[in-house]
Parts: sequence; structure tokens; C-alpha cells
Amino acid sequence: MRRDMRPAGVTDAPVPGQRCGLIAIVGKPNVGKSTLLNALVGQKISITSRKAQTTRHRITGMHTQGATQFVFVDTPGFQTLHGNALNKSLNKTVVGAVADVDLILFVVEAGSFTPADARVLALLDKKIPTLLIANKLDNVHRRGDIAPWLQTMQERHAFAEFVPMSAKSAKDVERLLGICEKFLPEQAWWYAADELTDRSERFMAAEMVREKLFRLTGDELPYTSTVIIDKFEQEGQLRRIAATIVVERDGHKGMVIGDKGEKLKRIGTEARQELEKLWDCKVFLELWVKVRSGWADDDARVRSFGYE
Ligand code: GDP
Ligand code: MG
Repeated sequence: MRRDMRPAGVTDAPVPGQRCGLIAIVGKPNVGKSTLLNALVGQKISITSRKAQTTRHRITGMHTQGATQFVFVDTPGFQTLHGNALNKSLNKTVVGAVADVDLILFVVEAGSFTPADARVLALLDKKIPTLLIANKLDNVHRRGDIAPWLQTMQERHAFAEFVPMSAKSAKDVERLLGICEKFLPEQAWWYAADELTDRSERFMAAEMVREKLFRLTGDELPYTSTVIIDKFEQEGQLRRIAATIVVERDGHKGMVIGDKGEKLKRIGTEARQELEKLWDCKVFLELWVKVRSGWADDDARVRSFGYE
């Protein structure tokens, strides 16, 4: 079990009956890794969208059920298109996350295996048990094609099990938890039973704004925009947050702000509603937009914006 990922003060001493272990969720962009993490945890902690490159950080999500604590790690999809500083940092995050876990969930779209999937599979340690998660089964209309496809997948890697499923089906997700459980060692839990993530509230706030930015702007807004939190204050049952959306060009700024500011307003409203649901409290969210050209190509800036 990875010592650097274990909270301070926790030992591996077994507690009779308790199981706990680390499960990495990996795969190329857009196969549904973050959707799966949220379904497994039972709360939205990892943002999702139809656009590739939505997830930029390693995100840990916990789920405790019966005697077992599952500690899931969501990763950015492995990026191969551009070799810029942001993508190099994302790839380092993926490789780091799959070292030394108890189980790997290798996620693909059911019925499909592309060179991009193969590049991720090649990174995996063959000694770690790996499940093939054939996700988005609800999109497959010819179910008869799945059995022969699984046969071909068997030849590619010694998968411990094949799990055709949909991350959007609660029944499938429950069944997957049961399969994962068998691979986790008997040892004391690392977290309290009701903890959902190891990420800070500040981080979750920036992520929810980024999700709305990705979802509410068209494909013309490149993925090189990010969100920084300028202020995060708690006053009783109210959280006051000020955040800046950083874009690359003046033209992008207009797209984020929209006609009479309506786009920015909508991003703010939807992000605020998500945060109020997550924390069960009132949120006051103020948003700004700034232009910083070239940040995704600049190593120092990528680090200063919170990427490892
Ligand atoms: P990631 O890049 O691998 O983390 O993928 P996301 O979780 O962000 O999901 C990418 C897109 O696939 C989103 O639009 C999801 O709603 C969609 N998606 C995820 N799982 C499923 C599924 O089981 N069925 C269908 N139809 N869509 C899914
Ligand atoms: Mg993701």
C-alpha cells in the first residue's frame, strides 16, 4: 500500500474484518472515468464533460460500505496529442497514480479499442490486478458483438475480470463495488466512514467553476483556460468565494462573459448550486475573467496554477 498516499497517523495494522485499499481508475480521455468515480463515491466530486481534458488533477474519492473502505483515484486521461507543459504534467500524474495500487480499473468504451487505449494499457504494471471496465454499454446496440470483442481483449492483457457496464446505471455500479471488494487487503480504514474526498473545499470550488466553463462554452473555447481561487472565507453557514477564470486570448474573454454578461452569470449560478448541494450550506460566489496568454505552454505558470 502506498505510504505517501496514506493520511498521516494511520497504520496498516489489520482491524479484524476491515478491508481497505487503493483503486486507480485509468483510461484515455472521455471514456467515463470521472463519471464512474462519482457513481462509485455516490456524490459528484470529480467534474465531467463531453470535452476531453476535463480532469486535470489526481482526485481521490472514498466510499465506505459494510466492513470495506474503497479509496478510488481518478486520473486525467493520458494525453498524446500535444507535448506542451500542461500535458506533460497531466501524464506524470497518470503514471504516478497507477504505481503501487491494489487494483486498477482500466476503462474503455465497450466494443472499442483504439491506439490511444493501447498507449494507456502499455503503462500499466502487469503485476497489479486489472479489471477491464467496458463502459457505456448503454450505447452498444448490437450486444451480440460484445462477446467476441471481449475475446480479443483477453489476448491483449491478462485482465482479472471483464465488467461490461454503464457508469450511469446504479445497479452496474453496485455490482462493480462487489467485484472490487475481493481485491482489497484486510487492513484498517484510512479515513472516517463519511469522508468523500481528500481534496480541499477551495479545490472543489475551482473545479466546479471549471466544469461549468467547459460545459457552457462551445468547442471554440480551447481547453487552455483555468480557474484560480482569490478568496475563500467561511462565515458560519455561509461560504464567500471569489474566483478568476484565466483564458489565453482577449477573444476568449468575450466568449466567457457572453452577451451582457449572461454567460458568466450562468457559469456562476450553476457552480454555486453544485457547491451548495455538495456542502449543504449557502454559497456566495463572485467571478472574474482575466487574460494570460501562453500559460499552458509555460512550465512555471502551470505549476503556479496548481498542477504538479
Ligand atoms: P473521462 O474523461 O474519462 O473522465 O470522462 P467523463 O467522466 O468526463 O465522461 C465523458 C462523457 O461520457 C460525459 O459526457 C459522460 O456523461 C459520458 N459517459 C460516462 N459514462 C457513460 C455511460 O456509461 N454511458 C453513456 N452513455 N455516457 C457516459
Ligand atoms: Mg475525467
